[in-house]
Amino acid sequence: MVIILGMKERGMDMIISPKFRGFICTTAHPVGCEKNIRNQIEYIKNQNFCKGPKNVLVIGASTGYGLASRIAAAFGFGSKTVGIFFEKPASKKTATAGWYNAAAFEKLANEAGLYAKSINGDAFSNEIKQQTVELIKKDIGPIDLVIYSLASPRRIDPFTGETYNSVLKPIGKDYTSKTVDFHTGQISDISIEKATEDEINNTVAVMGGEDWKIWLDTLKKEKLLSQNALTLAYSYVGPELTHAIYRDGTIGKAKDHLEATARDITQILNDISGRAYVSVNKAVVTQASSAIPVVPLYVSILFKTMKTKGIHEGCIEQMGRLLKSLYDKTVKIDDRGRIRIDDLEMREDVQNEVLDTWKIIRSDNINDISDIEGYRHEFFNLFGFSIDGVDYDNDVDINVDIPSIKI
Ligand code: NAD
Repeated sequence: MVIILGMKERGMDMIISPKFRGFICTTAHPVGCEKNIRNQIEYIKNQNFCKGPKNVLVIGASTGYGLASRIAAAFGFGSKTVGIFFEKPASKKTATAGWYNAAAFEKLANEAGLYAKSINGDAFSNEIKQQTVELIKKDIGPIDLVIYSLASPRRIDPFTGETYNSVLKPIGKDYTSKTVDFHTGQISDISIEKATEDEINNTVAVMGGEDWKIWLDTLKKEKLLSQNALTLAYSYVGPELTHAIYRDGTIGKAKDHLEATARDITQILNDISGRAYVSVNKAVVTQASSAIPVVPLYVSILFKTMKTKGIHEGCIEQMGRLLKSLYDKTVKIDDRGRIRIDDLEMREDVQNEVLDTWKIIRSDNINDISDIEGYRHEFFNLFGFSIDGVDYDNDVDINVDIPSIKI
């Protein structure tokens, strides 16, 4: 049962509780977010990383896969990291979870003697790219690994000023499927109208590879990429049952574009023997994935199946495995040149079981045959709630600084 309380003010400090609107949480808990970061760091410190990149730029570094990538690079390889993200500091409300995550990451990286600086603003803009260039030039010099992990509903074209809005829609025909309200566990049918040509183009403009290429072009022109530099962007494939809304839908078209862009960027990096990869990651609970219809129900079933088989992974396990295998050269690449770190999710035995459960799942058996509870728990964790070892009855100061950011 979700208790919606919001915040109770006591002077400057507050007791903070989760306050949800659908798949959005409007509060975040700084102590919980910090504990989350500490847990991810501990996990990475227990993995045996080989030698890796010295300087890493992570675009989309405050939550989900980008945050986990930054943690893995810093605490696995000892990399210096620059992180870019778009988050809000506290005002009358708490800061966003990504703000607290970035603050905790920088604090803990600094304590460990690791260089970590961040830039908060619109990564699609020329201004933020320019600020990043200046920071890298001033502080650390050429980058060995650029990780591109943005998930955004819109993008303003930095040259024309045009705003593109992405949509999550099927292509070709309307689509009806089961979906779940993960707060209540109620399963219902959802019907989504097919996308127009304009909506497809808009989604590709936001979530395709155009901006990734601009970043790499910019860094190359400024001579801020080292010899053999690598760049990664993240994609998803998933099973047949999510294809209509994901891989064959508008977001899938954007991912096709992202994957084609990897080949273009590899050309650009040819003279420095660099390379661009798209890594196909597994489905996990993040702010971005919880917004996609159908996916939370699929993920709840997937979690149950993978936990039963002892092969469950979240963002940090995935990014630990990705970066380790990329640099010890054991990484798996498919026949389209994509890294596959979704191998366990896509295993035939896993997918057969998920499909069997998908066919019979209803509101009255969802708690028994899926891990909806685990999904909900991980969703709360994204915002620093329901974390073991955190006392939520304590007052906390919502104003937390990110050490390298002046506001
Ligand atoms: P997320 O919502 O957790 O993180 C998005 C990040 O982008 C945040 O750091 C946010 O601050 C940043 N961001 C958004 N708009 C920005 C802007 N304009 N300027 C600067 N920063 C901005 O998302 P995620 O799920 O970790 O997704 C990251 C990538 O991984 C996406 O390409 C996604 O498609 C891919 N992926 C996700 C999953 C999944 O299950 N979540 C699976 C496979 C691949």
